[in-house]
Amino acid sequence: MNTAQKTPRKQKIAILGGGVGAMTSAFQITSEPGWQDRYEVTVYQMGWRLGGKGASGRRAPHWRIEEHGLHIWLGFYHNAFRMMQQALTELNPEAAPVAVGHTPPRIAQGVFLLCEDAFEPHSYVGAYEAFDGDPTPWMMQMPTNDQKPWQGGALPSLWSYLSELVQLLLGQAGESVHARVYRNEHPIHHHSLIG
Ligand SMILES: Cc1cc2nc3c(=O)[nH]c(=O)nc-3n(C[C@H](O)[C@H](O)[C@H](O)COP(=O)(O)OP(=O)(O)OC[C@H]3O[C@@H](n4cnc5c(N)ncnc54)[C@H](O)[C@@H]3O)c2cc1C
Repeated sequence: MNTAQKTPRKQKIAILGGGVGAMTSAFQITSEPGWQDRYEVTVYQMGWRLGGKGASGRRAPHWRIEEHGLHIWLGFYHNAFRMMQQALTELNPEAAPVAVGHTPPRIAQGVFLLCEDAFEPHSYVGAYEAFDGDPTPWMMQMPTNDQKPWQGGALPSLWSYLSELVQLLLGQAGESVHARVYRNEHPIHHHSLIG
């Protein structure tokens, strides 16, 4: 009878691509305690750079940023913010929390220290609608609070969501008229926002 103990085989996991979806999977799997004993994880990325559509970089000689577009995270990306803060905290465990969007942001070895450094809050949002063939702005000042999107906490009740929504729409009615008048008075400024 063979009494030698067999080492359990590790489960092989292949993660395809290096975009945020793939990196989230890798982060989640490797956050499990003792994952090294159970899994063998390989990330397959076409080309040399991770990040997918979220990647950015700079190119010599002018070191301009080369990326495919804006990178905006909306306040309700709770899980994404939380994961980003967990990852940055693992990289920079000594970093003290500071005010969100403070300047200059703290950077060590090319990486932001915490979400407080990597993100800047922005509440003035604009969208355009073709109105009689004319691009017309809907400018919105979104309500803010003093919470941080990566900290979590109790979600508001359905009623407080509805009450906030009604207040937002009522406030919006005045704002939008103002935006239309503003646009007529400042056509060039607003044209540049469309691009
Ligand atoms: C112009 C633009 C602006 C955007 N702005 C925002 C924004 O402001 N806010 C926001 O939340 N979202 C934004 N998005 C959406 C967001 O960027 C994407 O939803 C997100 O990056 C998609 O991530 P992903 O991991 O699913 O895919 P991707 O980022 O596309 O990653 C896929 C990865 O797989 C790799 N790959 C593909 N084929 C193979 C293969 N055969 N073998 C190995 N690797 C492979 C690719 O190289 C890539 O790295 C924007 C998108 C665009 C196009």
